[in-house]
Amino acid sequence: MPDKILIMIKRAASLLIFTLIAFFVKAQLRSPQDFLGYKIGSRFTPHWKIVNYFQHVAANVSTMMKLQQYGETNEGRPLLTAFISSPENISRLEQIQMNNLRLANLAKDKMAAIEDNAPAIVWLSYNVHGNEPSSSEAAMLTLYSLIDPSNAKTKEWLKNTVVVIDPCINPDGRDRYVNWFNSISGKNYNPKLMAREHHEPWPGGRTNHYNFDLNRDWAWQTQIESQQRIKLYDQWMPQVHVDYHEQGINAPYYFAPAVQPYHDVITQWQRDFQVTIGKNNAKYFDANGWLFFTKEIFDLFYPSYGDTYPTYNGSIGMTYEQGGGPSGGLGANNDEGDTLTLYDRAMHHYTTSLSTIEISSINASKLVKEFHKFFNDAVSKGVGEYKTYIIKNKANDIERINSLKELLDKNGIKYDVAMGSARGMQDGFNYQTGKDELFSIEMGDVFIQSQQPRSALVKVLFEPKSRLVDSATYDITAWSVPYAYGLTAYASKDQLNMGSRSEKSIMHNEETNYGYVLPWKGIQTVKTVGQLLQKGILLRYTEEPFEINNEKFDRGSILVLQTANRSFGKQLWNITRQIADSNNIQLYPVSSGFVDKGYDFGSDKVHPLKAPKVALVTGEGVGSNAAGEIWHFFEQQIDYPITLINANDLGRADWNNINVLIMPDGNYRYLSEKANVEQLKGWVNSGGRIVALESAVSQLSKAEFGIKMKKNDDDDKKDSAYSALRRFEDREREPISGTTPGAILKVDLDNSHPLAFGYPGYYYTLKQDDNVAEFIKENGWNVGVIKKNSPVSGFVGARLKDKLKDGLLFGVQDMGNGSVTYLLDNVMFRSFWENGKLMFCNAVFLVGQ
Ligand SMILES: [Zn+2]
Repeated sequence: MPDKILIMIKRAASLLIFTLIAFFVKAQLRSPQDFLGYKIGSRFTPHWKIVNYFQHVAANVSTMMKLQQYGETNEGRPLLTAFISSPENISRLEQIQMNNLRLANLAKDKMAAIEDNAPAIVWLSYNVHGNEPSSSEAAMLTLYSLIDPSNAKTKEWLKNTVVVIDPCINPDGRDRYVNWFNSISGKNYNPKLMAREHHEPWPGGRTNHYNFDLNRDWAWQTQIESQQRIKLYDQWMPQVHVDYHEQGINAPYYFAPAVQPYHDVITQWQRDFQVTIGKNNAKYFDANGWLFFTKEIFDLFYPSYGDTYPTYNGSIGMTYEQGGGPSGGLGANNDEGDTLTLYDRAMHHYTTSLSTIEISSINASKLVKEFHKFFNDAVSKGVGEYKTYIIKNKANDIERINSLKELLDKNGIKYDVAMGSARGMQDGFNYQTGKDELFSIEMGDVFIQSQQPRSALVKVLFEPKSRLVDSATYDITAWSVPYAYGLTAYASKDQLNMGSRSEKSIMHNEETNYGYVLPWKGIQTVKTVGQLLQKGILLRYTEEPFEINNEKFDRGSILVLQTANRSFGKQLWNITRQIADSNNIQLYPVSSGFVDKGYDFGSDKVHPLKAPKVALVTGEGVGSNAAGEIWHFFEQQIDYPITLINANDLGRADWNNINVLIMPDGNYRYLSEKANVEQLKGWVNSGGRIVALESAVSQLSKAEFGIKMKKNDDDDKKDSAYSALRRFEDREREPISGTTPGAILKVDLDNSHPLAFGYPGYYYTLKQDDNVAEFIKENGWNVGVIKKNSPVSGFVGARLKDKLKDGLLFGVQDMGNGSVTYLLDNVMFRSFWENGKLMFCNAVFLVGQ
């Protein structure tokens, strides 16, 4: 027995030693420099080390900090937030959270008592743009300074403030930049801007894995980083939110207050407190002799930013910008002859972080009171002149309406669905005609009330026209959801409600023994079709409308028939049903190919639909956002295989294995060589199909594919003898009359052409440039045209109004056995222009089949 006892003693001893070591290590809270082994700013810290540091602090000071992983990126990196406050607050963190939701009228336990004297919540979001990397370095300094026992000041602030730190919103982008920089920089950094370390390669680290700009995605939440983060954000609803960025290396630091335009839903308190925060930041910058600017460049309008979205959700939302970014490296020579270092950049962000927490703490009770008022006003009065937005339940819009409901759910916006029809008519603004009209209410109509906690956001997303105080805005000015989603909608000044919350239905499709019809209505239909095609099932689509079993079916309806699918036997129907059920798509069983009206299933107006072999041009020269939107769409939205080819490798592509080539917005050097153009034309003539978007269209035009771009009539016309006279101080404003930051135009559609199947006779396009093509005169189809100048929403510069009429925006040109589809506007814009996606799918799956 002594052996065993000895072993036990040994084990106990080693356990004790281990515990002692763990205790000793645990008891030692380390500064970032101690922990990392280098001074912040002297190197770039990869994401995993930032995670390690946050875990180290959480393990040591659990009384003051709670670390939560709220998600994971596309590349598998963890997404974290740290909640930091006094031990008293951390011990009742859940109560504080619940109380804060009650202040916002968002808690489920509405009757519970509200504590007005609650701590303020300050949320700091770092590094949304991965190649603006100094802020994640600053996040570690901020964390340490809040926790560090020797810092008495921060302990005072944390008595009435909960700080939430998201050290890196976009870890995939950050590591793309940081790993690249670390892999190519020398022993010492080189501050000369011509050195390669100041020029990151395509696509850069700004965006996430799918090349999406996460600072344009807050409201739309198309990306998993945004979806997971905003889910957590909605459970907290901070009073103050800061989004940390970097800008060009010569720009001084920017902080609030923001520049006009401010959206008119922003309250006086929100405007005033931006100034209060700005002045506190200025105090520290002045003391250090650091330059800064406010009230310029960064506006508060487009709803999907890290400053506006929190603002429309009751917070003081702000953007802070440090000079640096991807050309900053570890140190860079600026125009003043100084070397701007990563250390400087991190220190500036660190300083505004602490200053923002300090001023929020000083004003905590006022912040909480005004926050409470924001939501009380929202619920009791509602924001804006319209009290109810009504979405009509049109049979063809079922998928559009489902997408809208998803968007509303993601944003915590309440809505109801009419349980029946109402007597009499209502009066409201018709989005389609732009006029006040009478309309009726029918079963299934969706109601969105203005009087609800998210009232400000509802107004911003649904108002028919965005009102601009100033047109020099930083981003698009038109996003009205009924247009973006292609819905029939009314805005009413009356409070209408006759609905109840709808439950999601689960699809169970009926059996068949002859075939199914699948109406072509949206992305879920396309996904279903794509999955059937990948199983090897041959489908057909109808060119003309038809009626069978008393049901009317539109053009583009998909048929699943036994013909050419005999090898599947009875399994054909099971597979089809299973795929349709999983996509929540209704199948219509038919028992014969004999139709009551229209062409029978054996007619040559019914075409076989083969699985397209799709390639996307990407890589250097191609717009990374534009290519990313399409890549993400295929992989994450319709789950259909796609081959990405670098633009530089196009000449060596295996053309026999592609039948649809997608050319997104970009600069195609490939087309500048005659031999390449001949190769591409040859491929199209032998049956290839090109889908060209935005600037790819004008380059195909230059390469003489047949499409011609419209010239600006008044390019060389002078308005008056005095048009050359202009004031020097107006020079930044002057070019505005020639630009379109984004406007919604109504396009006439020929929906008898496959490119417009599934659409009514019109489409609202997001116009971001002045590109219009001439009508195609021969061998082609003018599917989407603008006949006269019809801006619906947003801003169109005065000089452009004449050009944006009588031209083509969407068309198809037949070439030999193949075709070229021209989409002059981006129908996939940021993946939120929901109604454009079906047109893109038409181009890929139907056109030319
Ligand atoms: Zn940025």
